[in-house]
Amino acid sequence: MIAPGATIGILGGGQLGRMTALAAASLGYKTHVYCPERDSPAKLVTPYQTTAGYDDRAALARFAAAVDVVTFEFENVPADCAEILAESKPVRPGPNALRIAQDRLREKDFLRSIDVATAQYREVTGVAALQRAVRDIGPHGVLKTVRGGYDGKGQVAIRPDADLAQAWARMGAETGILESFVDFICEISVIVARGAGGGAATYVPVENHHAHHILDTTIAPARIAPAVAMRAEAIARHIADKLDLVGLLAVEMFVTAEGEVLVNEIAPRPHNSGHWTIDACITSQFEQLVRAICGLPLGSPERHSDAVMKNLIGDDVGKWRDIVGEPAAKLHLYGKANAMPGRKMGHVTRLMPRRD
Ligand code: AMP
Repeated sequence: MIAPGATIGILGGGQLGRMTALAAASLGYKTHVYCPERDSPAKLVTPYQTTAGYDDRAALARFAAAVDVVTFEFENVPADCAEILAESKPVRPGPNALRIAQDRLREKDFLRSIDVATAQYREVTGVAALQRAVRDIGPHGVLKTVRGGYDGKGQVAIRPDADLAQAWARMGAETGILESFVDFICEISVIVARGAGGGAATYVPVENHHAHHILDTTIAPARIAPAVAMRAEAIARHIADKLDLVGLLAVEMFVTAEGEVLVNEIAPRPHNSGHWTIDACITSQFEQLVRAICGLPLGSPERHSDAVMKNLIGDDVGKWRDIVGEPAAKLHLYGKANAMPGRKMGHVTRLMPRRD
């Protein structure tokens, strides 16, 4: 067990790292944030920090020497960097989960290999391959970059009349994945925390609504049939078990009209759709991450309230003056100076009495 007083190393300095650092501080841990940016949200809440690239071996060695355990707050940390750190300190979740989550093809292959249902997909390495893939899986699809895409970046919708050469050029990467278009009725996610002994705690599935490809609103719990919710939780738990993951896993899923649950993506880290847990659950996702990676017992994921979380994106942040006066609203701002369009500046969680 890594007891309070120890130092948790966090790769990445965004709001997820910031909220992890705040939860760690509540339990008496120190945090050391490592990222290339000097003024990052997480660095505003801890004095221990490194500003260096993820390939700076000397800086990584000093960081490893200064911390007791390492975790990460975004999955595009190079897996090599996690591996270097893992030679001297526990990295939780491990480099393997990172490698799978940062490559959409590896991710889908892995999910299929453990009998988890996904959209149909094909690897695509050029226009000819894209034409073959469209013939195989149908004319409605989504072409995505295999690596590095997030919030809808690097994605192109494919329709029956699509110019495939143009679509390929727009996607803009050497390797892509064509997925069949899922006609979902609802997008949900499940966050599961898993400890080193294999014990797990799962949050109730939540419903996610996007605007301009960015998460806009999370409704907790999701308005889905109990049997679908149970299946979604079991899938998330199964994936975490098969990854032998220690930490947090967020699983994004599509629910179809027939009640089918298809996994879209996994993220081995805290997730935007779990921010509501800070204010509406006994243990937040961030505290759960700290508990899992430090070998403490997991806390209860039980919710005491229902909640609606809304991201404050770009200029939305100016609404803080009204929000801060609302009696059942919990405001979280990330300390970012420039409200650029599309930038997540904060979020608000509105609480309401639990209905079930
Ligand atoms: P992603 O980056 O994979 O999370 O995709 C961003 C958003 O695009 C998802 O939240 C969905 O709303 C939509 N999307 C992605 N893949 C598909 C798909 N295969 N079928 C339908 N919609 C999709």
